[in-house]
Amino acid sequence: MSELKPSLLDFTKQELITQIKPSFRVKQIFGWLYHNYVESYDAMLNIPKALKAELAQKYIIDPLKIIKKEISTDGTIKYLFQLQDGKTVEAVWLKMKDEIVDEEGKLLQEAKYTICVSTQVGCKVGCSFCLTAKGGFTRDLTAGEIVAQVVSLKRDNAHKHNRKINIVYMGMGEPLDNLANLAKAIEIFKEEDGLCISGKRQTVSTSGLSTKIDKLGEMDLGVHIAISLHAVDDELRTELIPMNKAHNINSIIEAVKRFPIDTRKRVMFEYLVIKNKNDDLGSAKKLVKLLTDIKAKVNLIFFNPYPGTDYERPARADMVAFQEYLTKHGLLCTIRDSKGIDISAACGQLKEKTEKDL
Ligand code: SAH
Ligand code: SF4
Repeated sequence: MSELKPSLLDFTKQELITQIKPSFRVKQIFGWLYHNYVESYDAMLNIPKALKAELAQKYIIDPLKIIKKEISTDGTIKYLFQLQDGKTVEAVWLKMKDEIVDEEGKLLQEAKYTICVSTQVGCKVGCSFCLTAKGGFTRDLTAGEIVAQVVSLKRDNAHKHNRKINIVYMGMGEPLDNLANLAKAIEIFKEEDGLCISGKRQTVSTSGLSTKIDKLGEMDLGVHIAISLHAVDDELRTELIPMNKAHNINSIIEAVKRFPIDTRKRVMFEYLVIKNKNDDLGSAKKLVKLLTDIKAKVNLIFFNPYPGTDYERPARADMVAFQEYLTKHGLLCTIRDSKGIDISAACGQLKEKTEKDL
């Protein structure tokens, strides 16, 4: 395959300033990219033709296109994108809070949304419960491909650039396995002349590469982390997440304690609940003990089954009992409602379904 051109979305403002003259044009270009979500150079009205021609020689704008969309009754929209090399990844548009309207129809509060983005095509970690893992690892996403998912979803949902949005790096792939591009994307999202999404609004979910948690912490980007814990003893965790052998539970807990967090905030621990594996109160008890010294909050997630998996979705009653145990023992705990349950909601499921039809 011939060398692919980079995208304008691959660069921070400072990087573009070193490449584009005169430099005030960069602010205008950022406006077209991140405030107007343009898809072509023609749409950049106040940029001189000669500069646009020069840019078009060197850079593309959009490194991905939407090839499939599934809309759920709860407002969740799942997108499948095709990248320049034909590979596909998913992103999800999640409605977290409904708008509030008074009796006269006046809008009191706008709806709140979160975008879940992918960081890799496939994943190296190989978790036994995860559909993304089944296809193995293909490649890292570039910073521009990560950024483009958010631009594309905001554009598709006519979400104004200055409306607040949260980003969770919980789509396909292990974000910390692609740390350089992840960090670059985080910086680009934060750009004041761009989308202006602060670190506080970005959450990196990791399967627990403890050394990389430290590296992310040292970068001091102001982001939150979420740890996919899923098990309270190393034996079960290694069965679920094989690289737990190299980065065991203790090493993760120690890395979390070193991670710079906003003192008002808590570190989120995700706990995927699988029937008869980790849904018992004995596990809940161990979880309380494990997290005693950490300002934590736990998010219980229903395992979302797919054809071919041996794991099963837990009973709601067991989930609630688990939650009650944690809450009673002082741990903040929520059950993640399976958003988009009527569509292919879990990580990798839309891709799997579509590639069979492609
Ligand atoms: N690789 C990172 C982020 C992407 S996975 C991580 O593992 O944290 C995002 C979340 O989806 C993880 O918490 C993962 O455990 C969860 N997940 C994967 N497969 C799932 C399934 N079948 N049902 C429910 N959640 C799943
Ligand atoms: Fe990778 Fe996360 Fe899936 Fe594990 S759960 S295979 S780390 S994407």
